[in-house]
Amino acid sequence: MSNYIDLHTHSIFSDGTMTPFELVKYAHEKGLAVLSLTDHDSMGGVTEAIDAGAQFNITVIPGIEFNTNHNGDIHILGYFIDVNSASLKAYLDSTKDKQIHWVIKTLNKLKKQKIDLDIEKIINNKNKVNISSIISEMIRNQYVEDAKEAQEKYFDKGKLAYIEYLDHSSEQCIQIIRKIGGIPVLAHPMKISNNADEIFKIIKMLMKTGLQGIECYHPENSPEFTNALVLFCGNNDLCVTGGSDFHGFDKPMDLAHPKVPIKVFEDLLRFRKDLNISN
Ligand SMILES: [Zn+2]
Ligand SMILES: [Zn+2]
Repeated sequence: MSNYIDLHTHSIFSDGTMTPFELVKYAHEKGLAVLSLTDHDSMGGVTEAIDAGAQFNITVIPGIEFNTNHNGDIHILGYFIDVNSASLKAYLDSTKDKQIHWVIKTLNKLKKQKIDLDIEKIINNKNKVNISSIISEMIRNQYVEDAKEAQEKYFDKGKLAYIEYLDHSSEQCIQIIRKIGGIPVLAHPMKISNNADEIFKIIKMLMKTGLQGIECYHPENSPEFTNALVLFCGNNDLCVTGGSDFHGFDKPMDLAHPKVPIKVFEDLLRFRKDLNISN
């Protein structure tokens, strides 16, 4: 029995490259005991991951990750999410509608630059449609050489096809996760700022809107900062989580790095049980 877990991973249901089955199989090869699939704006892969977990003897926690409108850098993870929740489905549908409207507007702008892309190819491509979905299609059709060129010419703020995309607020994301019985957790706090005081200020602001945990273990957190976050969680009744943010082999983060001890999972289960008792 392994002593390590990974609570932050992505599959083809958002911007990862593996199917949920392949991901769980790889987690098995890495010797993980617990895995959470946390695709962006999608629970589409969770059932497949849970089934694969039963096959490979890995506990799979149903999860999700939302990007919020705070400059795109506050991401909220939700754990123990009810896959069949009607209100979650309604929320995800409205998110998808917003994304599709944004794609249509962006494609219209590109058309004015004589770039003609097939919207079907973009929205059928993946569950989450975003700028990468459009850029891949531009590269495939040889309008640009690579993502860097597309970004600099068309999509950076103020450029030819730039249209601001407004995600939901962090408060909305936290509320929806709590409403469906999940635990909302701040993902990769180091992405918010490189100033620890600034990060803790934002964490305190998010706690007021219902945040219940922090991803203390993440490849970008230094050991010192991880310790500071774990201490902060202990002092503020927040749960500790951790994961690799693994997307597949085309990104640098590998599964099971950093090593997150199984105690984190046991504490998380206790935290959840205490919540149910107090509710
Ligand atoms: Zn993220
Ligand atoms: Zn992620």
